[in-house]
Amino acid sequence: HKAPQSDIDIAQAARMRPIVELARDRLGLAETDLHPYGHHKAKLTFDCVRGLEDRPDGKLILVTAMTPTPAGEGKTTTTVGLGDALNHIGKKAMICLREPSLGPCFGMKGGAAGGGYAQVVPMEDINLHFTGDFHAIGIAHNLLAAMIDNHIYWGNELKLDQRRIAFRRVVDMNDRALRQITSSLGGVANGFPREDGFDITVASEVMAIFCLARSLDDLKERLGNIIVGYTREKTPVYARQLEAHGAMAALLKDALAPNLVQTLEGNPAFVHGGPFANIAHGCNSVLATRTALKLADYVVTEAGFGADLGAEKFFDIKCRKAGLKPACAVVVCTIRALKMHGGVAKEDLGQENLEALKQGSENLARHVENVRQFGVPAIVAINRFSADTEAERDLVRQIGAELGVEVIESDHWASGGAGAAELAEAVVATVEKDEAAFHPLYPDEMPLWDKVRTIAQSLYGAQGIIADKVIRARFAELQSGGFGHYPVCIAKTQYSFSTDPNLKGAPSNHVVPIRELRLASGAEFLVVVCGDIMTMPGLPRVPAANRISVDSDGRIVGLF
Ligand code: ADP
Ligand code: MG
Repeated sequence: HKAPQSDIDIAQAARMRPIVELARDRLGLAETDLHPYGHHKAKLTFDCVRGLEDRPDGKLILVTAMTPTPAGEGKTTTTVGLGDALNHIGKKAMICLREPSLGPCFGMKGGAAGGGYAQVVPMEDINLHFTGDFHAIGIAHNLLAAMIDNHIYWGNELKLDQRRIAFRRVVDMNDRALRQITSSLGGVANGFPREDGFDITVASEVMAIFCLARSLDDLKERLGNIIVGYTREKTPVYARQLEAHGAMAALLKDALAPNLVQTLEGNPAFVHGGPFANIAHGCNSVLATRTALKLADYVVTEAGFGADLGAEKFFDIKCRKAGLKPACAVVVCTIRALKMHGGVAKEDLGQENLEALKQGSENLARHVENVRQFGVPAIVAINRFSADTEAERDLVRQIGAELGVEVIESDHWASGGAGAAELAEAVVATVEKDEAAFHPLYPDEMPLWDKVRTIAQSLYGAQGIIADKVIRARFAELQSGGFGHYPVCIAKTQYSFSTDPNLKGAPSNHVVPIRELRLASGAEFLVVVCGDIMTMPGLPRVPAANRISVDSDGRIVGLF
């Protein structure tokens, strides 16, 4: 292991190649295929993206994880490490990641561009404003919000009920002060006062739509389908009735093209789109993934949270909608997380504990089993931490053998692609066996209620689902109202298979209570809220912002 260095030190020491050269040499793209943002970031042109459509697809590999712990499991780091490792063993591979949100960046410590020697660069740009996509998404969202109040101000021809506006405002910052507000105060000229609030930009339905859209036309159509609110008779009013969708799409035109960057080892990566993983589907844009599949033989991508949420939505929402067929899933696991699921407190993770490790492996076993339920073969990657002991590492291998799953230790954080070569070989061997027979967990025709029950029982180990009368009536209303074919997007805690974040391991026979339904009619899924879900986070007592700065040469410091 090399001497410990912070992620930003490693990233800033990297020698990046000009992105135009990298695109030419590694992807066969011409300068005219790119729209460069400086020297190290570029968007592909839509002509380029369209021109690739007839090419065959490469193999899609999902990186997911066991139930996360506050310690952090390293999915992004492993995605980058595996992508580098595939290139290292001579394959043509690309990486697809989400774009980070500014809120968490200034809140909790923890970047979103990977870590150690497995990062995408320029990490300061990627973590800060990058190519401006999130600003564009935020402003497109807020245009619609402004047009709603403007419509009411000028006479409210569509008869929107001000108490039933379903579309809030957004900003890409953790700002708890804006969660619940009253707008239009200050007199007649400022409109009609109403209760309103802000979500973080990544929670915007515009973000979810952006990430599922297959083209500009598809984007515009879906934006028009957003429900902005209801009349007093509870009839939905759509964005298209406000004639907002054209201008929203115009604001998103540049943003919708995938962003190309590179890893520390000079391999190509798309970083594009970043929906929340609870009230949305939590993976990068369909356009980036589909384009990468045309440009590379292997595409490694990440889904947020553990496999119960991230992989499930990746499969049931993104792959279903975009016609993607994943060939293999890598379930990231850490010895620390196994011990935590076996009952060890965060402060005691430094000590060897084989008993807890063994017990915590129940959590891993269920995730592996779950991935297999989608017809996708699974491999477990142990993301190696320096505190892992020999005995613990041996035990994990033994557990893998007992579970009948390949378990491979990976050291990409410390050693880059070379450290994940064995993992890459295993992925290639699995993909080449061609055993994947991907299918979503439930068919489109299954009733909405049964879709939620199926997920809860088959993946969470729950006995069943419950909801009060109002919610059950809403299910029935949506089912008969033409939304029954939508997939469901479950928002629950990422820290447990259950809805109780303290229930570690692999709990069984619990009940999943449904608290709320939110129809995302532009994104085309039904959000099923099971638990407290925060769509506008706050900053911690000591935010990361306190350490972040810029020196007199313009160099960013203190960013992770
Ligand atoms: P996830 O995508 O699962 O949220 P990340 O890959 O972003 O996790 O990693 C979270 C944090 O943990 C990052 O700051 C990263 O540098 C750190 N990290 C990841 N893997 C390791 C490792 N093997 N050893 C030490 N730190 C690691
Ligand atoms: Mg991540």
